[in-house]
Amino acid sequence: MTMSEGFAIDATPASTAGSEPVALLGMSKAALEAYFQSLGEKPFRAVQVMKWLHHRDADTFETMTDLSQKLRAHLEAEATLAMPDVVQDHQSRDGTRKWLFALADGQRIETVFIPEKDRGTLCISSQVGCALDCSFCATGKQGFNRNLTAAEIVSQVRLARRALKDTDFGRPKAITNVVLMGMGEPLLNFEPVLEAISVLLDDLGYGISKRRLTLSTAGVVPAIRALAGRTDVALAISLHAPTDALRDQLVPINRRYPIAELLDACQAYLEKLGEWRSITVEYTLLAGVNDRPEDAEALIACLAPLRERVKLNLIPFNPFPGSGYARPAPAEVRRFQETMMAAHYGTMVRTTRGDDIDAACGQLAGAFDDRTKRRSRYIARLRDHGEIVHGQTGR
Ligand code: SF4
Repeated sequence: MTMSEGFAIDATPASTAGSEPVALLGMSKAALEAYFQSLGEKPFRAVQVMKWLHHRDADTFETMTDLSQKLRAHLEAEATLAMPDVVQDHQSRDGTRKWLFALADGQRIETVFIPEKDRGTLCISSQVGCALDCSFCATGKQGFNRNLTAAEIVSQVRLARRALKDTDFGRPKAITNVVLMGMGEPLLNFEPVLEAISVLLDDLGYGISKRRLTLSTAGVVPAIRALAGRTDVALAISLHAPTDALRDQLVPINRRYPIAELLDACQAYLEKLGEWRSITVEYTLLAGVNDRPEDAEALIACLAPLRERVKLNLIPFNPFPGSGYARPAPAEVRRFQETMMAAHYGTMVRTTRGDDIDAACGQLAGAFDDRTKRRSRYIARLRDHGEIVHGQTGR
C-alpha cells in the first residue's frame, strides 16, 4: 500500500530496483527465491544464501563455497552485502549500548541494545529522522530525511549481534527481542519494514519470535489495518494522551487519525492476533501535562473498550536539551500507576536505561540532513524565545 492513501509524506522510497545493486541482506526468503529463479537458479539457493548471510555472518560472496563459481561471480557483479559503517559505539554504565551508524549516503541513524536479566532487547530505527514531530521526542525535533531500506533495517540487527558477540563470548542469543521503536515511524515505511520483519522472524534469518518482535506506531490507522493482513508481530501504540484535545498537541498525527479510530484499528489487529495476545500502550508521563489524577481517570475511560487486551507501559519522560517538558517526580509516577492498576490495567513503569549516553526512550537523534527544515526552525525558536517548560504553569 502507499501511505499517500491515508497520510501524505514527502519520503524517498527505499528501493533495490533498477540500476541499484541488489541488496540481499534485506530480502525475505520468498524474495530471494524469486530472485534466484529469475537468474535461472533453483529456489533452494535462497536457503543457502540466507544461512551464509544471517547464520554464518558472511561478508563476501567468495566465502559462499556451496554456490557455483559462476553464480558467485554473477552476485559479485550485481548484488551487494554492504552494511552501514559503525561511527560510534557507546556503552552506558548500566550496560545499555548505543551505536551510531553511517549509511552509504552519509546519513546517520542510531540503534540501542538494552540488556536485562532474562532478555536482551534491540531497539532499531526504520527511518532517517521522523516526519511526525511528536512534541516530546528528540528524533521528531531533528526533522526527517528518508526511509531506510530493508537491508539497512536488517543490518542494524546484524551489526549489533556482531558487536555483542565480542562482549558476550559468542552467546548466540544476546538479542532475544527486537523493537521497532528507534528513529522513525515504521508504518510510514511499510513495505521495507515488512520485508525486514520477515527476515528477522525467519529461522533462516534471526529466528526472533513473533511475540518478541514489536512494531511501535504513533497511529497510522490505514497501515495498522493493512498490517493485520500481512503479519502478526506484537504491536505497540504510542498513545501518550487520554483525550483528542491533548493528543492533538503531543502527537500531531492524532489530528488525522483520532483516538477512537486508532483504538478501532487496534481492535481489528487484536482479532488477528487471537484471544491470548494483547497490545502495548505506551504513555510517556510529562510533568503537569498528562500525569495528573484527572488524566489517569480519563485514560481509564479512554482504554475501556480494550481493557482486557492492553498492557500499559508508563515511561517517565527522558529530558533532552530544549525539550520544554519535565519528568514527573517518582511519587507522581507511582500514583499514576496505582490508579491504573486499581482499574485492572496491567501497568509497568519503564525503567530509564542508558540516559547517560542519550539512549533512553525518545532521546535518539542521529545526525542527518533534515529535508523538512524542522531542526533549524526548532533551534531558531529556542534561540529567540528561550526554553519554555510546558505544563509548569498549569496548562
Ligand atoms: S515519538 Fe516516534 S513517531 Fe513521534 S516523532 Fe518520535 S520517532 Fe516519530
